[in-house]
Amino acid sequence: MSTTQIIFFAVFLLLVAAFGWWVFPKKKNRKTAAFPNAWRLILKEKVSFYNQLSASEQTRFEEGILQFLDNVRITGVGEEVDDTDRLLVAASAVIPLFGFPGWHYRSLNEVLLYESAFNEDFKTREAEERNILGMVGGTGMTGTMILSKPSLHRAFYDQHSSQHVGIHEFVHLLDRADGTADGIPEALVDQPFVIPWVKLMHQEIKDIREGESKINPYGSTNEAEFFSVVSEYFFKQPDKLANRHPELYEMLEKIFRQDLDGK
Ligand SMILES: [Zn+2]
Repeated sequence: MSTTQIIFFAVFLLLVAAFGWWVFPKKKNRKTAAFPNAWRLILKEKVSFYNQLSASEQTRFEEGILQFLDNVRITGVGEEVDDTDRLLVAASAVIPLFGFPGWHYRSLNEVLLYESAFNEDFKTREAEERNILGMVGGTGMTGTMILSKPSLHRAFYDQHSSQHVGIHEFVHLLDRADGTADGIPEALVDQPFVIPWVKLMHQEIKDIREGESKINPYGSTNEAEFFSVVSEYFFKQPDKLANRHPELYEMLEKIFRQDLDGK
């Protein structure tokens, strides 16, 4: 081999190495490997949705968590925020979108965790009517969600309740992704699905108002609240919802592209 040939060969090897570096960045593998085992243990302990997934789905769930935490800041207001708090916020975000691999929330920058429920002036102490557990994108708070930290924790440990403040607020974001908060997540469903969904929604709201429903009465406030309230129920107690409101359960299965009752 002449000197020129050796130089050409060396340059060729360098080019192959450089090409490989750019073409196969292995970003996905790096991220999966980066999911801390301590976080995995927290998910196993606190998040029953995660525990019911297969191994490969758990990996996809973890990727969703990392992706969310890369994009959204989580801040405690008068409260310390630890890994468990961050993971519970991220899990609340990942669960409703789990049937849509690769999708994420574009309109959210920050989640504030309050020490308790709050009132309409965002006061948590010495205030009356502290009955708000969560809120997203209200006046003057574009891109921000507020959650009561104790309510967020309760949402994950209290298996007897169909309520889940985290899922509730993230479903509001999905509902609004098409520009309107109307209980119709047009970003998620096909057009022919809209009319039957609206019809069922109005019937169920009427049943709640007439006291003939097991759904949380807050769901009868309006269509947007109805959609968030029944979504909490769907993800929290799917078997119960499927039993008591089979038609509603089936529609939510289609909307979220998730089969939770195993039937
Ligand atoms: Zn709401």
